[in-house]
Amino acid sequence: MTRLTRADLEALPAYVPGRAVPGAIKLASNEVPYGPLPGVVEALTEAALQTHRYPDMGVVALRDALAERYGVPAERLVTGCGSVAIAEHLIRAACLPGDEVVYAWRSFEAYPIITASAGATSVRVPNTPTHGHDLPAMAAAVTDRTRVIFVCNPNNPTGTALRRAELDAFLDAVPANVLVVIDEAYREFVTDGDVPDAIDTYADRPNVAVLRTLSKAWGLAGLRVGYLVASPEVATAVRKVVTPFSTSMPAQAAALAALRADAEMARRAALVVSERGRLLDELRTLRPDVPESEANFVWLPLGDGAVPFGAACEAAGVIVRPFAGDGVRVTVGTPEENDAFLAAAAKALS
Ligand code: PMP
Repeated sequence: MTRLTRADLEALPAYVPGRAVPGAIKLASNEVPYGPLPGVVEALTEAALQTHRYPDMGVVALRDALAERYGVPAERLVTGCGSVAIAEHLIRAACLPGDEVVYAWRSFEAYPIITASAGATSVRVPNTPTHGHDLPAMAAAVTDRTRVIFVCNPNNPTGTALRRAELDAFLDAVPANVLVVIDEAYREFVTDGDVPDAIDTYADRPNVAVLRTLSKAWGLAGLRVGYLVASPEVATAVRKVVTPFSTSMPAQAAALAALRADAEMARRAALVVSERGRLLDELRTLRPDVPESEANFVWLPLGDGAVPFGAACEAAGVIVRPFAGDGVRVTVGTPEENDAFLAAAAKALS
């Protein structure tokens, strides 16, 4: 049979989204449970009247708003259709086929997919026994072919976070010609003061790029808006490979409105953080090895018990995210949703 697509993609697992089951409580995709921020629906309604027009391809107003918020020039900002698309563009901008991309494993499951789609080679470095990145091993994995290293902080799906001293040492050890992408999708939920804000702390290093998203704390998962803060050289290269018009007009309008509601975002994030603490306390009475989380989800290292645990929760009407043979990621929901999960977890683990 004539082959029309790449043979190497046959072995590549597809991205598995969190399952949505009608009527069930969904704690599987790290969304926030509170609906859109104030002003977002109005901005979308207004934007709806212009949907026959293309969006502003330069994303000027949104990039200016982000530039002001983070105190960086707008030329260093790139937006995209979710931060996952920008991560893919970064690899496209940095890697030729056969180049290597280093990342921790387990980490965000899109990294292997976007690496393979660029024809680059994944180099996975196992997490430490306490489920965090092994930064010395990641630095040691760098070869002449390494172009990009992903550092996911806090890490999806384990929730663990890297602290200032270890990140400083890692960045000093990585060669200047390797791009370190610090993926901070969950930054707004970080409460440990030793976990650095990479935009404030590292974005002036030319080989560091910081990825953020409006999908999580900012509540815009359905609209797909992410952004990158990088050196002018990297940002310019990424803009060249970005799919034209990939930050849609309603997405730009809604993102601007969401950013104006930052006090309410912070209030909601604090509610999530408080519930995260309650979930961790209660889960540790069942499983003392549940690691600390700096994100809006918690990780249960259940090994082969992960899939049966997911099924037991689903039977109790709560959808969580099992990773076969490894663990289960549970998004922090409303107090009532968390109560339903805790009841299911107590039953499944007793
Ligand atoms: N990075 C990490 C670590 C994530 O967990 C996610 C979402 N699951 C993303 C990036 C992508 O987010 P989005 O494309 O919605 O911006």
